[in-house]
Amino acid sequence: MKVIVLGAGLIGVATAYYLWRDGHEVEVLDRADAPASETSYANACLISSSRALPWPTPTAHKTVWRALTDSAAPMRIVKPLDPRLWKWGGEFLSYANDNEYARLTKAKLAFAKFCQDELQATLTETGIDCGYLQRGLLYVCRSEATLSAATARAELVAKHGYDVRIVSRDEAIALEPSLANADFVGASFAVSDAQGDSRVFTRTLAKFLSARGVKFRFGVEVSATLSMIDRGYGIYANREPVEADKFVVALGPRSFHFAKQLSLKLPIYPVKGFSLTVPIKDFSRAPTRGGICEDSLVAYCPLGDTMRLTTGAHFAGDDTTFTDRDFVHHRESFESLFPGALDWRDESKIERWACLRPMTPSSLPILTATVDKFGDGTLVWNCGQGHIGWTMSCGSGKIAADLVAERHPSFALNHMQKT
Ligand SMILES: Cc1cc2nc3c(=O)[nH]c(=O)nc-3n(C[C@H](O)[C@H](O)[C@H](O)COP(=O)(O)OP(=O)(O)OC[C@H]3O[C@@H](n4cnc5c(N)ncnc54)[C@H](O)[C@@H]3O)c2cc1C
Repeated sequence: MKVIVLGAGLIGVATAYYLWRDGHEVEVLDRADAPASETSYANACLISSSRALPWPTPTAHKTVWRALTDSAAPMRIVKPLDPRLWKWGGEFLSYANDNEYARLTKAKLAFAKFCQDELQATLTETGIDCGYLQRGLLYVCRSEATLSAATARAELVAKHGYDVRIVSRDEAIALEPSLANADFVGASFAVSDAQGDSRVFTRTLAKFLSARGVKFRFGVEVSATLSMIDRGYGIYANREPVEADKFVVALGPRSFHFAKQLSLKLPIYPVKGFSLTVPIKDFSRAPTRGGICEDSLVAYCPLGDTMRLTTGAHFAGDDTTFTDRDFVHHRESFESLFPGALDWRDESKIERWACLRPMTPSSLPILTATVDKFGDGTLVWNCGQGHIGWTMSCGSGKIAADLVAERHPSFALNHMQKT
C-alpha cells in the first residue's frame, strides 16, 4: 500500500525504514530542507535506556514549584499562564503518585529495552555508522545527595532488568581517567547504555532509503482539514492535497498543531532544551564516553572531534530562541568535571541550538491508530517520545509499521495504556 510519513526527524525516518521493510510504497514529507533539522538535529546523543523513567514522579509537585520559582533550576516554567500548559500540567500531576509512577516506570523501561534492541538490529541490517558505541554511560555525582538518589534509581531499574552499578570515585576514574581532577563523590555506571550521533543516523538512514525507492520531499509544509459532515480528513503538502492509503504522523512537537487542525487535542507540550557543540582541544582531558552530571543535569557526549553538551527543560511554548546566557551553565558544569578539554576560543566553531522535546504528560509516546476514537485507522500517530526519542526511534518505528499493517504490535502496547 502507499504510506506517507509526515516528518523526517528521527521518528519519521525510522518509521519509513520499517514501512519500506514491509514492502510498502513510502513517501516522507518534511518542511525543512534535510532530515533531522529540528529536535533530532543536536540532542545529547545518549541511548540511555536505563534512564527511561517517567517525569511525573510522586514528588513532581516539588519540581513544579521549583520550576516556577527558581530561575536557576534546570527545569523552568517560563510561560506559567499558557492554557495549553495548564491542561498538560493537570494531566501530568494526575500521574504523579506511587501507583502511576510504578506502572509508567515498568512500561517505559521495558519499551526502552525493546527500542534499543531494535536500534541495534537496524544498525546491523543497514550497516549505518553513526558512531554507535555500547560501552556504558557514566552518571557522575558531585554530592552525597545525588549519589543517594542515583543509588535508589539503580535499585529501581535493577528490578526491571537493568545493570546499573554504583561506583566509587576511584572506580569511576578507572572507567574515565579524565575525571581525575574533578571534584565528585562517585557515579552510577549503566552498563548497557550507549551513545551515537542521532543526526548522522537519521540522515544516513534517509539516504539508505532514498537509494532503495523511498521518496523524500523537503520544503513541504504539511497541513490537514477535517470534514464536519463525515469526520473524514484531507492531508495537504504546501496546500496541495496528497493521497495515500495510510499516513503516519511523526511531526515531533508540531504533531500537537497538526492534530488541532483535525479538532483533536494531542497531549504534547514542547519542552525546550539547549544544545552546545564545542571542539575538543585536549583528548586526554576529555571523557571517552557520554554521561550526565547528576548535580547540574548537563549531559555530554563525545562526537568525533567535538563534544555535545545539553541541558535545560523550559516550558516556554513553541519558542526556540536562545541567548548566550542559556549556555553558561553547560560550560561551567563541564569545565568543572573535565577542565581544559574543550576549545572555547573560536566562537565560529561553537554551535548553539535550542529545540523542543515532544513531551506527553505520562512521558510515554503516542503510538496509536486512533486518537479520541477519531479515524478509521488510516492515520497512525507516532509522536511524543519526549526526552528519549533517539533511544526510542527504531522501536517506535517498528510499532508504527505494525499499526499500519494492522498486525499484532511487536511490543505489547496495552502495558502502556492507562488502567
Ligand atoms: C536538548 C535535548 C537533548 C536530548 N537528548 C536526547 C538523548 O540524549 N537521547 C535520546 O534518546 N533523546 C534525546 N532527546 C530527545 C530526542 O531528540 C527527541 O525525542 C527526538 O528528536 C524527537 O524526534 P521527532 O522525529 O519526533 O521530532 P523532530 O526531530 O522535531 O522531527 C519532526 C519533523 O517534522 C517536521 N515538521 C514539523 N512540522 C511540520 C509541518 N507542518 N510540515 C512538514 N514538516 C513538519 C520537522 O521539520 C521535523 O523534521 C533530546 C532532546 C532535546 C531537546
